[in-house]
Amino acid sequence: MALTDITRQAVLEAMAEFDRLGRDAFLDTYKFGRALSYFVEHGGRFYDSKALAGYAHGQIPGQRRWTTDDFTGGEKSVARHLRDRLGFSMQVRKNPDWSRDELILACDLVYANNWHELRAEYPEVIELSALLGRYWAHPVDQRTETFRNPNSVGRKTTDIATHHPDYRGTPTRGGKLDLEVLAEFLANPEEMHRQAMVLRAAILAGPFDETWIPDPTDPDLDDASAQEGGLLERLHLRRERDRGIRNKAVKAHKRKHGHVACEACGFNFAVAYGPRGEDYIECHHKVSLSESGATTTKFSDFVLLCSNCHRMIHRSRPWLTLDQLIELLATRWPSPRPTP
Ligand SMILES: [Zn+2]
Ligand SMILES: [Zn+2]
Repeated sequence: MALTDITRQAVLEAMAEFDRLGRDAFLDTYKFGRALSYFVEHGGRFYDSKALAGYAHGQIPGQRRWTTDDFTGGEKSVARHLRDRLGFSMQVRKNPDWSRDELILACDLVYANNWHELRAEYPEVIELSALLGRYWAHPVDQRTETFRNPNSVGRKTTDIATHHPDYRGTPTRGGKLDLEVLAEFLANPEEMHRQAMVLRAAILAGPFDETWIPDPTDPDLDDASAQEGGLLERLHLRRERDRGIRNKAVKAHKRKHGHVACEACGFNFAVAYGPRGEDYIECHHKVSLSESGATTTKFSDFVLLCSNCHRMIHRSRPWLTLDQLIELLATRWPSPRPTP
């Protein structure tokens, strides 16, 4: 009884039965689970690889049909046989990599659990699995059936926990981003926990209209923070583009100073560009979402910045504070900073 006994003809017969019954009834009748990632592609249709091989084994004279328990290898070894020996084409479906937002949420569970992993059956894991299922960052058509299920969430907490510096043992495999998020948590656990809570609330609140926010994949925004398209960043940008608040902030600044200029470098659009630049300025929100919560916006939390200074603050993580940006400019920019 071996995988190598299965012939191409037997697989074609299995496909015919699969087509006759339909996927659900086929899997149900012959007691197979759904494929996790490997599908045989044939005639424009997709077949769960293991189920197909199990049925095909029973089509060989003198052999019986396999069930899930009869397989010694995983889906991958089955797929290899079907592809390399029998010449079928395979489709590998993979879940999208964990985003930074998702990792912050997973890491927050591990942090709350004293840096120990959490198992799939823990209520926190089941709850996070459901939350990530609702999160719209990965479109449904890019997900497989195991997308962020409790098992995969549990495994991710293991990846994180076994990379903690106090963990004695061999760490499981984890991505580079896992380690980055873990390092951020270790450096500033309270801030990261607050970020996790804001993310949670934002996901529960549901998708918002992002069409007026610059596309995070815009090549001009070549910074990591924009490319990753973090939800907190996008919410921050949305807040900064609130026209009502922005107009108030510009008016207040004008009343106080008589003109509108960058609070970091003093650049004045009206001076540089004439009437075309009159009252042009960008608003930057000084307070991070995790400090303020997702909803409050006070216009006194805004500073006015030229486009250059604003872009430099957000260019990479961690974002600079206004004071850091001013200091950076003061140490590098040769001419004295004009007063705003
Ligand atoms: Zn500036
Ligand atoms: Zn800003």
